[in-house]
Amino acid sequence: MTSRASGPFAVLVTGGAGYIGSHAVLALLDAGWKVSVIDNLVTGFREAVDRRARFHEGDIADEALVAHILAEDGIGAIMHFAGSVVVPESVADPLKYYRNNTANSRTLIESAVRGGVRHFIFSSTAATYGIPDEIPVREDMPTRPINPYGMSKLMTEAMLADVAAAHPINYCALRYFNVAGADPQGRTGQSTAGATHLIKVAVEAALGKRSEVAIFGTDYSTPDGTGVRDYIHVADLADAHLHALDTLIALPDRSHIMNCGYGRGYSVLEVLDSVERMSGNSIVRRMEPRRAGDPDALTADNARILATTPWRPRLADLDTIVAHALAWERKLGERD
Ligand code: UDP
Repeated sequence: MTSRASGPFAVLVTGGAGYIGSHAVLALLDAGWKVSVIDNLVTGFREAVDRRARFHEGDIADEALVAHILAEDGIGAIMHFAGSVVVPESVADPLKYYRNNTANSRTLIESAVRGGVRHFIFSSTAATYGIPDEIPVREDMPTRPINPYGMSKLMTEAMLADVAAAHPINYCALRYFNVAGADPQGRTGQSTAGATHLIKVAVEAALGKRSEVAIFGTDYSTPDGTGVRDYIHVADLADAHLHALDTLIALPDRSHIMNCGYGRGYSVLEVLDSVERMSGNSIVRRMEPRRAGDPDALTADNARILATTPWRPRLADLDTIVAHALAWERKLGERD
């Protein structure tokens, strides 16, 4: 948590009704920031937005609406989460991703420059690396996305670099690894139906919402043969955004690209074991072939964020991540 009691301006969170955005809204509010949210509610949930935030239903590509919000709400920084996030969908419908993630980001960045916004924090992704030559992967290693999702995000990083060189705005692109878990206080969580991400799928299975979990590949060159990923607790990730904002304010001439992960990995089997342990229920496992484009192992070198900001992992324990995901999933079940 940042020590800043309240900021000199308000922060606009795009996609603040979504999974990660709603956690960032809570982190900002809890730290004393004034927060505005813009979300078109296509995938987000109105009730995920804390009541202390000012909510605007609409699209980030609506330049008149965004200009109005920037001026009326006194916005000095934008945290930009709005976008599309499903990798296989990006392969099937690439233009949707180049519209929602690239073209709409371009419009938003232009609105930010025109509106005098000084700081921009962007939700980027480890998918910008594609299949890395070595792990843990560092920010200065090659970016070779293997799907339109990763490319749509990398293109926005490129725009931000050029814009920050030309205009009085600095930015931080945060490259997320595998985000999971939910608010430790149970205020928000991952609510999207039809999830494909492992921890979400596994907690649904443990709570009887699906019959089994497919294990995509058991012949990877990893200790137990299943894929290894760097799972980061969504509350730690939200906290990283607060520290990124403080860093951008403190050094207005510097921009940053930073991995968000813990630098350690867990295999699919380790995740399933954790979910069984924390739920007390067993999960039916079905072995499936590898999923196209999945690397064996993907973990973050997080030296840069540790050196650049005071951010430190607080909820890195896999069982903690899983326990919070389970608690949220139970709450969703009560609502269904
Ligand atoms: N995975 C799996 N079964 C699932 C979902 C994912 O075995 O139902 C594996 C996947 O192959 C990868 C890891 O779990 O090794 C994490 O996948 P996820 O889709 O959660 O995130 P990704 O790393 O692809 O962004």
